[in-house]
Amino acid sequence: MGGIIFWAIIRTAVLIPALWLMQGFIEYKYWWWFGIMAVYGVIIHPAAIQYRLFLEENKEIIKDTLCSTCKHFDKTAVLCLINDKHPTLNYLPCEGLDWEPVSNGYEQKEIHS
Ligand code: SF4
Repeated sequence: MGGIIFWAIIRTAVLIPALWLMQGFIEYKYWWWFGIMAVYGVIIHPAAIQYRLFLEENKEIIKDTLCSTCKHFDKTAVLCLINDKHPTLNYLPCEGLDWEPVSNGYEQKEIHS
């Protein structure tokens, strides 16, 4: 995930000066449309494709591991938040010791008798 953001920032850093330089060569009324299409084509679309590939590559980890049922797991980054490590299909950073179930927004209430 960090790589996707990093390369989006790099592409942005290259595209902005390039657009600024091209401003003198393109008629102003077309320049905005060119700029919008360039931002989409150079920054947004590649990032969306990379994110889709990232989800596809990590689909099994996100859905079918012990981490996928743990409240310390960040699915968007495939990251264990308390160990700051990326679990894989063969690697569980806490070895199951820190696992806590996802509460789904509902806290279990204790029954007092
Ligand atoms: S605490 Fe353990 S089970 Fe939970 S996300 Fe981290 S490595 Fe996975």
